[in-house]
Amino acid sequence: MTGVIQRFDALILGGGAAGLMCAIEAGKRGRRVAVLEHADRLGKKILISGGGRCNFTNIHCRPEDFLSKNPHFPKSALARYTPTDFIALVEKHRIAYHEKTLGQLFCDGSAREIVHMLEEECESANVRIVLNASPREVIRADEFVVRTASAQFRAPVLVVATGGLSIPKIGATSFGYDLARQYGLKIREPRPGLVPLILNQRDRASYCDLTGVSAEVVTSYDGHQFHEKMLITHRGLSGPAVLQISSYWHNPGTISIDLAPERETTAMFRDPKVPRNLSSLKSELRKILPARFADRWLELHAPTSWTNAALDDFERQLHAWAVHPAGTEGFEKAEVTVGGVDTDELSAKTMESRKVAGLYFIGEAVDVTGHLGGFNFQWAWASGAVAGRAL
Ligand SMILES: Cc1cc2nc3c(=O)[nH]c(=O)nc-3n(C[C@H](O)[C@H](O)[C@H](O)COP(=O)(O)OP(=O)(O)OC[C@H]3O[C@@H](n4cnc5c(N)ncnc54)[C@H](O)[C@@H]3O)c2cc1C
Repeated sequence: MTGVIQRFDALILGGGAAGLMCAIEAGKRGRRVAVLEHADRLGKKILISGGGRCNFTNIHCRPEDFLSKNPHFPKSALARYTPTDFIALVEKHRIAYHEKTLGQLFCDGSAREIVHMLEEECESANVRIVLNASPREVIRADEFVVRTASAQFRAPVLVVATGGLSIPKIGATSFGYDLARQYGLKIREPRPGLVPLILNQRDRASYCDLTGVSAEVVTSYDGHQFHEKMLITHRGLSGPAVLQISSYWHNPGTISIDLAPERETTAMFRDPKVPRNLSSLKSELRKILPARFADRWLELHAPTSWTNAALDDFERQLHAWAVHPAGTEGFEKAEVTVGGVDTDELSAKTMESRKVAGLYFIGEAVDVTGHLGGFNFQWAWASGAVAGRAL
């Protein structure tokens, strides 16, 4: 091995949300920490998050808002670093924020303020930041050695915070999973989550000319339900209700969509004075769905007759549109990666590997995935903080 040798108490690979939080907590406790980030700046994903305003946490954060093979795993970290802790940090830095909806907190200004805050905290905790540092090799002898093009970094502790596979164009790599495999740790197959779905050919032909139309729906899959907005795209479906359910969906499963939640479109026909015909049904449906979507739905699913049974059947279909997606838009468009380092391999209290002393995995690299709405950052902060306090 060549290059200048630099020694630290802990090396953190990845200068994103989790890695920076870990570095701050460890640095505050007097540990000499280096963050090795392969990009030319820190927190690129934070910068593009929440439409540029960073939905940095959710005040209603509960363990139920996370997917993991072991749903109990995130509880410990989430309890020890809460949204209130992160909000206190945001307030200390006088960053203005607001609740947009459903407990989601966003910056009033820009996501850049969150990155600046983390940079300032790193500076005051004496964290060494090394940008453009691509680890070429990681070995473990009496300590961990990370070799980049120009230097060798050594420390008894290595924290892997390189994130998941989503959005490769801003620097996502499989580095964390490869390293976990190198040390014999199990990986839960990574797949795209919070991702738009592509409709099958028939449904695409039927609906995708309605691109941009949105409706409030309930999506359901495998016992999970989300009551939020759905958006039709040029290839399929998106919007919060669809993104949320996409994290649970497995090809070739069927997603059920209630297009008229808590509404009964055919109720008016119980009144004998109301004529049973297409135009009254259309005007009723247009009260619930955008006109173009209502009209299209009726073209494709008009009642076969005007009997009570046929109307019941129409109503049933409207509340349970069976969607068989052809696939997802993939990691290019996914907000997160579902799966990752198997939680059986890690301590829930510290995120340290059970097999390899001194090796930690935090953030999105771990098989813990949040719902849409600030939960993924909360997991990054929480897992980073508990690891940082354990170093
Ligand atoms: C478009 C978009 C919007 C989002 N909006 C939100 C939101 O508003 N709220 C929310 O809660 N979540 C949001 N997320 C999810 C959230 O950004 C992630 O869950 C979170 O950033 C994960 O933190 P992390 O530190 O584990 O990984 P990351 O933030 O991805 O950080 C990993 C870091 O490691 C670096 N890296 C990767 N490979 C290497 C390597 N080999 N060597 C060195 N460094 C490496 C990367 O460059 C990166 O800086 C969004 C995601 C996307 C894609």
